[in-house]
Amino acid sequence: MNYRKKFIVEPGSKVRLTKIDPSYTGKHESDKTAIPEIAKDVGRMDRLQYLLYADASQSLLIVLQALDAAGKDGVIRHLFTGMNPEGTSVFGFKQPNESELAHDFLWRAHLHAPGNGEVVIFNRSHYEDVLVVRVHKLVPRSVWSKRYDLINDFEKMLADNHTRILKFYLHISPDEQLARFKQRLDDPGRNWKISESDYSERELWPKYVEAYEDAIAFTSTKHAPWYVIPSNHKWFRNLAVSQIIADTMEEMGLKLPPSRVDIADIRRKYHAAKRETRGKTSKASR
Ligand code: AMP
Ligand code: MG
Repeated sequence: MNYRKKFIVEPGSKVRLTKIDPSYTGKHESDKTAIPEIAKDVGRMDRLQYLLYADASQSLLIVLQALDAAGKDGVIRHLFTGMNPEGTSVFGFKQPNESELAHDFLWRAHLHAPGNGEVVIFNRSHYEDVLVVRVHKLVPRSVWSKRYDLINDFEKMLADNHTRILKFYLHISPDEQLARFKQRLDDPGRNWKISESDYSERELWPKYVEAYEDAIAFTSTKHAPWYVIPSNHKWFRNLAVSQIIADTMEEMGLKLPPSRVDIADIRRKYHAAKRETRGKTSKASR
């Protein structure tokens, strides 16, 4: 199954999240058949990241958005394990600090966008400025409503600068969210994930859905597409996301760059050094 085709939000099309089954698992009945596939895709991601870093002429930006407990952290932990930390980073978008608030809303996103050869994962993103900000009326409509175009222009600029952009909305149901909240309560190892606002945010679910539907519909573009990923099953979420990332990287034409030095000349230097070391060691042993 080609999950890029299946889950992409076609540019210009509407999104009705309530019509999309968050429990979808396609041909897979359980994680048994999915796990080897995920391992293969994670392996492809690792191999391609090595090439991206070596080649250093393009970059990759992955945006993860979702309601609480949908699995943003899980995706990062499970799928980016093999990528070399040299060349890979995660930036989490928290409530903006004073200096961030003193700038335009895209400033901090631009500051953390990937440079040549880098992979950057946005755990939440500049989209919060048309999501939480809209739902909580942190700025007037006249301000947030202009941001979709600004986001599209910003992402176009990144894309023109050789950044591939992939945006994922991890789609869960309210029931699944409550089940995960229960796990967080019951498992002391997960208590730290509980946040004061979990239940008040949950009450705003329909408002968030509305804001997400608009954001995704207005900003899914050819150069920065959105994918809506059924995420009630964590293993299926991992399968779909890893395949989409690996397939996209496969398309980037990544290859080892030609050597920057004259290899024949360096080889001569190596042999000269080797001869010299041999000469020294044989003198020392005399
Ligand atoms: P978490 O991702 O659970 O660590 O929480 C980060 C919190 O910061 C979430 O509640 C976000 O909605 C909030 N946040 C992120 N960006 C913004 C923003 N631009 N304005 C207001 N709140 C934000
Ligand atoms: Mg949270």
